[in-house]
Amino acid sequence: MKVGIIEKPGELKIAERDIPKVKDSHDVLIKVKRVGICGSDIHIFHGKNPFAVYPRVWGHEFVGEVIETGSDVKSVHQGSHVVVEPILFCGKCYACRQGRGNVCEKLQVMGVHTDGGCQEYFLARESSLHLLPESLPWDEAVLIEPFTIGAQACYRGNVQKDDVVLIMGAGTIGLTVLQMAKLAGATVIVTDLVPEKLAYAKTRGADYIINAKEENPIEKVREITGGMGANVTVDAVCIKKSFEDAIELTSAAGRIVELSFNEIPSDIAPVNIVKKELTICGSRLQTKRFPVVIDYLNQGKLALSGFITKSYPLSQMIDAFDYVDKNNASVRKVIITMD
Ligand code: MN
Repeated sequence: MKVGIIEKPGELKIAERDIPKVKDSHDVLIKVKRVGICGSDIHIFHGKNPFAVYPRVWGHEFVGEVIETGSDVKSVHQGSHVVVEPILFCGKCYACRQGRGNVCEKLQVMGVHTDGGCQEYFLARESSLHLLPESLPWDEAVLIEPFTIGAQACYRGNVQKDDVVLIMGAGTIGLTVLQMAKLAGATVIVTDLVPEKLAYAKTRGADYIINAKEENPIEKVREITGGMGANVTVDAVCIKKSFEDAIELTSAAGRIVELSFNEIPSDIAPVNIVKKELTICGSRLQTKRFPVVIDYLNQGKLALSGFITKSYPLSQMIDAFDYVDKNNASVRKVIITMD
């Protein structure tokens, strides 16, 4: 079978490997149908992910059809359509006991720490799978994982009906947060520097858009909210300024959700957190969000048209990476078709 592999930073290629075999009674062999390219895959390609181990079959956003199951597998069968939850955790450490396997001491992410989904056949554990309706198109199913990231940000920020949510950054992640926040009943403000991205956010339900190049987001948010500020600020820009702005423009009793591994320190005085009793939290990967997103999809509640910017067959995987790399401002999601 063919696999898409990042041999070492800067070296991406298609290699030949044996099709994996079902060995354990809980193993499930999947014919992979679609793989999404994430910003984090591009980082791994460029050697900028500190957790990545090479060589690595990339891909953590993938869906497929079950080909074969181990003898104890009950939840799926041959022909089932599935999405793979790409995180592996110990189930025993403190985080796992809190139901937060996404920050497990021994966390392993497929496509980062272990081989991922860009292979024609993938051997999964039954426990990593979520069943999908066969009527759901593969091109929609492959977007489930990115939307779980948006769902997690809203969960961590405890987004409630009628909250004002400010999303900094209208990139792929910001757009998934937008839809999840709208489904929760929030009023959503989106900021970005790129007019096209803001215009798309508007078509996906943003109530207000702010071009941070032309307007001061702090003043503008105060104006929109009558001085209150945003109740939840989701920082998908993740630079020093966005974090500091978030502290300024979030309301009393508000929540700030940070989404990146940026290592640049910020100058924030504790008083600015305490006087408004802000909750500042990180949101990493997701925990228990797959069923939430699958439910929304089944109910037809996610607006996905235009979300996939381009698709490429596996044979053109290198062109696909190149396209994502060079069109960062306009790409929402580029996918690889495996059938
Ligand atoms: Mn992703």
